[in-house]
Amino acid sequence: MNRIELDFEACTGCGACFDSCFVNVFRWDDGAGKPVIAYVEDCVECNKCELACPVEAIRVIPDYAGVYWPPVI
Ligand code: SF4
Ligand code: SF4
Repeated sequence: MNRIELDFEACTGCGACFDSCFVNVFRWDDGAGKPVIAYVEDCVECNKCELACPVEAIRVIPDYAGVYWPPVI
């Protein structure tokens, strides 16, 4: 399964990652004013959240287990 690391210290709560994820991996913690990685199993490694974060607080770590390259034809 892919992993997502979120640096809560660096996060400013801008919401860009939340808005950028089209498969809704994130939920929002209203109390903390920060994102929550709620459904990491749905992550498709598009990296939009990582690229959207203005303070580089998110890192997407793909799981390549079981992925073969080059493809076997
Ligand atoms: S890498 Fe893409 S699919 Fe995964 S959490 Fe970020 S925006 Fe969502
Ligand atoms: S884009 Fe970065 S700074 Fe903004 S809420 Fe997400 S992790 Fe925090």
